[in-house]
Amino acid sequence: MPLRALDQSSKLKNVLYEIRGKALEEVARLEADGYSVLKLNTGNPAAFGFDAPHQIVRDVVAAIPSAHGYTDSRGILSARRAVVTRYETEPGFPEIDVDDVYLGNGVSELITMVMQALLDEGDEVLIPSPDYPLWTAMTSLSDGKPVHYRCDESAGWEPDLEHIRSLVTPRTKAIVVINPNNPTGAVYSREVLEGIAAIAREHSLLLLSDEIYDRILFDGATHTPMATVAPDLLCLTFNGLSKTYRVAGYRSGWMVVTGPRDHATGFLEGITLLASTRLCPNVPAQHAVQAALGGVQSIEGLVAPGGRLHEQRDVAYRGLTSIPGVTCVRPDGALYLFPRLDPEVHEIHDDARLVYDLLVSEHILLVQGTGFNWPSPDHLRIVTLPEARVLSEAIERLGNFLSSYRQ
Ligand code: PLP
Repeated sequence: MPLRALDQSSKLKNVLYEIRGKALEEVARLEADGYSVLKLNTGNPAAFGFDAPHQIVRDVVAAIPSAHGYTDSRGILSARRAVVTRYETEPGFPEIDVDDVYLGNGVSELITMVMQALLDEGDEVLIPSPDYPLWTAMTSLSDGKPVHYRCDESAGWEPDLEHIRSLVTPRTKAIVVINPNNPTGAVYSREVLEGIAAIAREHSLLLLSDEIYDRILFDGATHTPMATVAPDLLCLTFNGLSKTYRVAGYRSGWMVVTGPRDHATGFLEGITLLASTRLCPNVPAQHAVQAALGGVQSIEGLVAPGGRLHEQRDVAYRGLTSIPGVTCVRPDGALYLFPRLDPEVHEIHDDARLVYDLLVSEHILLVQGTGFNWPSPDHLRIVTLPEARVLSEAIERLGNFLSSYRQ
């Protein structure tokens, strides 16, 4: 009997994750042919020579002999206590308790759980454009409807409050905020966050705040946690060890619940149910949390002037903005730049093809702006993790490539 054809489920038809998209097949072909490819597609510090802080490694290794059993579904108490203590030192952050903390296999798993617990078919979620695309993907996978609000490049990529307000409907359930932002590197002002909170208050919306880059800040930028401007609203704050602590491969993150809960017990029970169906997060990685949040191995030295991330951000910004027809908002945080290719000069109709052609010609992998749910094919995202010399050479090659590229 012939085997019945197997296709992917129709739920996946709107799930987009171009950060690891089809271009990787071409990368594999190039590498198999002996070429080395500069992969600037993922924010993975380890791939660019950032070591895991040794205190974290030491605690994880020490925990391994006794980390072979399942734990509490929300995570081990010592790690959740460390998360509570971390937010106690955050000025204005609402008081939390260990029961308000969920650990996850990275922020990614927690985003997936929350969307599954929250959405019924057709429920709407307001998500920034451009966004970190997992938010849109998981909204779609959970049968929800992603509704993108504009971030305004001419205003340093701050969210456009009027646009957000205009998109609210009776089906809107939540607003996603990514601050500092991936892919733009914008760090939002308190006023804009207060504006978003006011819309959430007016329409009784859940706030979902992805703050995974909250300690990767440049030139005195300050990060305001969403929960501090909306202590009277239900707010879920997401963060983890992948970026600030440079252990993305451990898959370790957390989510903190603040604000009133009486109106949301069903939803929160849903999250707890899903946390228990995944049994527990990876246990050795849970032991990284307390060591990380102990403080000594954080990221301050890398983001201060003269620090590696600061220098690389500057080199990338200078390089990109010296390419004719390319402009860029200088990022105040995170690990990316999101330059704009002036359509009058570059005339790109298909930015995925641009990325593919650049890969084949220069062996450099970037991600197209439309991969971040940006509506027009006129942006690229570049990771600022490689050393300054590598970055500036790659950007020079991008400039040369663009000077003769036509679609
Ligand atoms: N949120 C944002 C904004 C990100 O940029 C990323 C990873 O790049 C994630 C979440 C996923 O993080 P994790 O490694 O904790 O799953």
